[in-house]
Amino acid sequence: MKHTDIEKVLTSSDMVGTDAVVCGWVRTFRDSAQVAFLELSDGTSFRKLQVVIDKNALAVDPDATKLGASVKVEGTVVKAFKGEGNELNAKEIVLLGKCPPEFPIQKKRTTLEFLRGIPHLRLRTNTFAAVFRVRSVAAQAIHRYFHERGYYYINAPLITASDCEGAGEMFRVTTQPWNASYRTEEEYFKNDFFGVKAGLSVSGQLEGEVAATALGRIYTFGPSFRAENSNTTRHLAEFWHVEPEIAFAELPDVIEIAEDMLKYLIRAVIEECPDELAFFDRFVEQGLLEKLTHVVNSDFAVCTYTEAVSILEKENAHFEFPVHWGSDLQSEHEKFLTETVFKRPVFVTDYPKEIKSFYMKQNADGKTVAATDLLVPGIGEIIGGSEREADFDKLAAAMRERNMPMESYKQYLDLRLFGSVPHGGFGLGFERFVMYCTGMENIRDVTLFPRSVKNIM
Ligand code: ATP
Ligand code: MN
Repeated sequence: MKHTDIEKVLTSSDMVGTDAVVCGWVRTFRDSAQVAFLELSDGTSFRKLQVVIDKNALAVDPDATKLGASVKVEGTVVKAFKGEGNELNAKEIVLLGKCPPEFPIQKKRTTLEFLRGIPHLRLRTNTFAAVFRVRSVAAQAIHRYFHERGYYYINAPLITASDCEGAGEMFRVTTQPWNASYRTEEEYFKNDFFGVKAGLSVSGQLEGEVAATALGRIYTFGPSFRAENSNTTRHLAEFWHVEPEIAFAELPDVIEIAEDMLKYLIRAVIEECPDELAFFDRFVEQGLLEKLTHVVNSDFAVCTYTEAVSILEKENAHFEFPVHWGSDLQSEHEKFLTETVFKRPVFVTDYPKEIKSFYMKQNADGKTVAATDLLVPGIGEIIGGSEREADFDKLAAAMRERNMPMESYKQYLDLRLFGSVPHGGFGLGFERFVMYCTGMENIRDVTLFPRSVKNIM
């Protein structure tokens, strides 16, 4: 269907005086004796196009003026009577699809919770359309950031047979119902599609390391699956995961890259989504723009886990879960550190080895590993990363300590056998990044069809 984007009609001064055809959905309709006004949106811009109808010259089908109806309008582009940009003086309005009054997106502001119940329609609101434009811009910026710096884009498999990393969090992949005639689990899995127990990947990292130890710098950007039982506002069962992996990199390099990447992504969103951010700043998180501008212009803090715990221990009276050296940091501690103590993003480094994964580089103190989590105000953990253990013997020892099946990790260990190099990487939760940029407080509101416990609409 030949037509012009509303974004172009609105903003291009060259078009003033010319005729244009636009298509879109009716967002508001105002009527008076002589003229009527339709506001249309077609998704191409945050702003809507005002269509002016001279009622003496043009009779309009009432169905074409209903909230949510889709229409095609031909008219003349003129400078807006009020405000910036252009509007359209209608010559012809064609109804494409009518929209009965049961349309659940009505003009009065509804709650995010109500909109979660209509995921197929909620993008027709300003808020959700803006979230998904920001999300798209951020995704493009991720590819641009890595491509410009010589990283290769790798697609890790989504179905995997290694189930240790996500112990308990892994969704099973099977074609075979359980049947009482199987005597053992092994026998059951032998008959299954892959002949072994398989599941959906919780992370592309292990395969990312395979690629990084040949190609140097790589990243993956795809879905990860976690059967998270926790019903929080920051966890989904299916989320998108950005995972760079870098050869010849140690923990300080990983931290430097994570900070640089995050700032690049935020800058891209600020530059490419000014209308959306102004909207979020006004209606969703007051001070959002200032927060984001401050983040791109200041250095992130860095502190060790041990330092963090000694700060937190003084506040133990205020925490639901008191902290001591060795305990995992809960969301309340993470938020306290980044929001109250540092008041900006902070990398916490060198966690006790017992609370982190087997593959992280063991520090010389014998107690901690070269891991880092990046904590940001309002969210808590947004990135988790580490330098990886590159020493065969140390890695094998850590795996034995955890009773891991060594046979299933032969390939992973091989990387330490054949030309092992210091390397590391991190994982950014893409939805958490979108939350951070938009101020949206629930991860279910930044993903098209959120999947979580007991929820797959
Ligand atoms: P958390 O403690 O918040 O559960 P994690 O330690 O399990 O996070 P990692 O395994 O380090 O997280 O994964 C890297 C990043 O992926 C996290 O920093 C977070 O941004 C994101 N992430 C992890 N789990 C989820 C999830 N269930 N839903 C959305 N994003 C997630
Ligand atoms: Mn988790």
